[in-house]
Amino acid sequence: MDRTQPMRYWAGMTKSWLARSCTAFIIAGNVWSSQSLADERAALQAACWQPAALGRAPGENIGERPGRHLRIPNIEGLASERDFTAIAGTVRRVTLPLGKKLVALTFDLCETSGEISGYDGAIIDYLRSQHVKATFFAGGHWMATHKLRTQQLLSDPLFEIGTHGWGHRNTRLMSGLDLKREILAPSSTYMAIRSELSRAQCAAPLLSAFSAIPQRPKLFRFPFGACSAESLRNVSDAGLIAIQWDLSTGDPSPNRSARAIAGAMIHSVRPGSIVISHANGRGYHTGEALPMAIPALRAKGFEFVTVSELLAAGNPVVSDTCYDVHPGDTDKYDFLGGGKRTDSVWAPATHVRAAPATP
Ligand SMILES: [Zn+2]
Repeated sequence: MDRTQPMRYWAGMTKSWLARSCTAFIIAGNVWSSQSLADERAALQAACWQPAALGRAPGENIGERPGRHLRIPNIEGLASERDFTAIAGTVRRVTLPLGKKLVALTFDLCETSGEISGYDGAIIDYLRSQHVKATFFAGGHWMATHKLRTQQLLSDPLFEIGTHGWGHRNTRLMSGLDLKREILAPSSTYMAIRSELSRAQCAAPLLSAFSAIPQRPKLFRFPFGACSAESLRNVSDAGLIAIQWDLSTGDPSPNRSARAIAGAMIHSVRPGSIVISHANGRGYHTGEALPMAIPALRAKGFEFVTVSELLAAGNPVVSDTCYDVHPGDTDKYDFLGGGKRTDSVWAPATHVRAAPATP
């Protein structure tokens, strides 16, 4: 059952004139300081990469298969930093104050152990060119095999990175330490990559920018969009917020046209929506769809924000189960590969791939 949770952010606000004046002053100050931090982050990115190095590279969207099989990082110490304010359940969308038309675009970067998937530069280049904010849910294995791209995304004031499992395994079929590692290991990879960037020579004069790049990820998306009560509890215990969606573009299907993806976005996005697409080369026509969908949504008055900004702007609608459109519809991924094992399944999901073996 979905429920709307009031955010603690609004708790304790008084109606007195003095309080309102102070609040206005504080908000103005926060806006100024967040803009200043965004500028510092942009300066960090400009100091570390030439525009050509940020842009798409030919063939990079395709990836390689198979790739290296990397050792899963140690999670010791990570699980103990529990955030007791974490939301229990998975966020499907956000209820906003009347008149606010915010939407969060999200892009999954799925990669199973033993493969290397792609980086769809056409999507990221377009978002940057149009100043569109977005959230990426990156698998731990993906970040480890795309360290440079991960650092570029981290340094970008338009973007935030949440995690998406280590090896894109179905957490419904996992338990104990195995489950904890799938959920937490990507946080370890994120932290190591962030730390490496902070130690780079180009970053030395701009260390203040790192205050705008979270030390550890705060958001998590379940591989396959599927979860169990135990995996939900583990995400919450880890201080992570599970983020689902209320609108899937269907882009893992190669047969889904750019026009169909854009149409779904233009007609089905509503204020507070969270939209799922893919930027690992398996969001087949998303790069062509965005130039149609984004101007149309802006013309309808929508503003693009990160998931964290969307959460801060309203009340999250939380579900105690994970699903795509209807409760139970992601349970089918329990049987991928002919049995109750998904760790060797190459095709990512929510992720209904109609074909081909090689993207
Ligand atoms: Zn995925």
